[in-house]
Amino acid sequence: MERKKEKVLGYEVDIISFDDAIRYLVDMIKTKQGAHVITINPEIIESAKKEEKLSEIIKNAQLVVADGSGIQLALKMKGINQERIPGIDLAIELINHCNMLNYSVALIGAKEEVIKKTVKNIEDEYENLNICYYRNGYFTLPKEEEIIEHLAEIKPDVVLAALGAPKQEFFINKCRKKLPESVYIGVGGSFDVWAGEVERAPEFFRIMGCEWIYRTYKQPQRLKRIYKTLPLFMFKAIIEAVKYRYYMRKRGANDKSAVRS
Ligand code: UDP
Repeated sequence: MERKKEKVLGYEVDIISFDDAIRYLVDMIKTKQGAHVITINPEIIESAKKEEKLSEIIKNAQLVVADGSGIQLALKMKGINQERIPGIDLAIELINHCNMLNYSVALIGAKEEVIKKTVKNIEDEYENLNICYYRNGYFTLPKEEEIIEHLAEIKPDVVLAALGAPKQEFFINKCRKKLPESVYIGVGGSFDVWAGEVERAPEFFRIMGCEWIYRTYKQPQRLKRIYKTLPLFMFKAIIEAVKYRYYMRKRGANDKSAVRS
């Protein structure tokens, strides 16, 4: 499958449909090539600008999907239409495929009661699903090594890490060194939603790309994170889009004059 990517503030984002992203990931499972999926949003980009290691992880990821509306808007300003691909939707569709195709899944993250409820709810919904491992997302560094060793032994086809960004990205990066054949997705607060602890935004907000407004309304503590990153991100994205459009027009004009001469 030919892959198209576009940069947002220096980070390549896949220009891909939801269905093609799933097809790609199923193929990566089937062929045991593995992948790290980053569900990128303005907060992750702003963190990566300050943290070289995170920046490298994003640049080395096999699939970077436009999770945040801010990313979708940044691409739109460049004239590129990209559907939003929320990590939670991608993960649930992948679980659906694992259930149908008999691939194993490991779930790591969230508080103990949340992960237990998540596993129960998923097992109720997907009767054939092989959840080969699960545990909460609160562990020490030595325990983390133990978990990674264990994962390397049981080799899940898919690992969903819900530790919040960027913690989950660092965890996945460590896992990939021991177990590169798995497909990993950092799914943030998805387990809280699957456990029924946090309500997903109603369809209206999701369709309008305003899920973040609803989440902020429900969890006002998010406001600080958004306030700290979004205005700066949007400002830089506007500058980048203006430069990009200028460059594209100039190239178009040069191409036309080359054809004429
Ligand atoms: N979490 C965890 N371990 C930690 C810190 C956080 O498992 O050391 C979990 C937390 O319980 C929550 C999720 O990570 O379920 C973070 O959710 P949040 O909505 O903040 O993530 P986002 O989607 O914004 O990245």
